[in-house]
Amino acid sequence: MSEALWEEHLPFMKAAIEEAQKAEAIREVPIGAVVVLGSEIIGRGHNVRETTRDPLAHAELIAIKQASEHLEAWRLLNCRLYVTLEPCPMCAGAIVQARISQVVFGTPDPKAGCAGTLMNLLQEDRFNHRVEVIGGVMQQECGTMLTQFFRKLRGKE
Ligand SMILES: [Zn+2]
Repeated sequence: MSEALWEEHLPFMKAAIEEAQKAEAIREVPIGAVVVLGSEIIGRGHNVRETTRDPLAHAELIAIKQASEHLEAWRLLNCRLYVTLEPCPMCAGAIVQARISQVVFGTPDPKAGCAGTLMNLLQEDRFNHRVEVIGGVMQQECGTMLTQFFRKLRGKE
């Protein structure tokens, strides 16, 4: 990808990182996401799995729900989703269901990543929708947030 194209993604990944910081502020695993249409952010979300005691409360699902409410549609056509961590199988499934065009993620997830690491649900030919995927945007910032969070957590134990 050219330098100019890569730079276009940075403000939106920064917005996803800001969401992740909101999660961290309430002692949740710092993962954040935004949904973008054109140059407008129409959905934001951060992980609140502990706070809500909800296994579905992933950043991506919250951002997708907000974007759907904004557009009053379940199809998020031409939308891009930015997320600090590679999507899990549940979120990758939701991304396909919402017909999102492009996913940009920060750091890969060796334990649950379904955008190419463990499997690639976003680009499965047998599904009726495929998503363009770009990984590694602000990877270091996104990854460091997570490793520092878990380091602090272990330090307390
Ligand atoms: Zn997820």
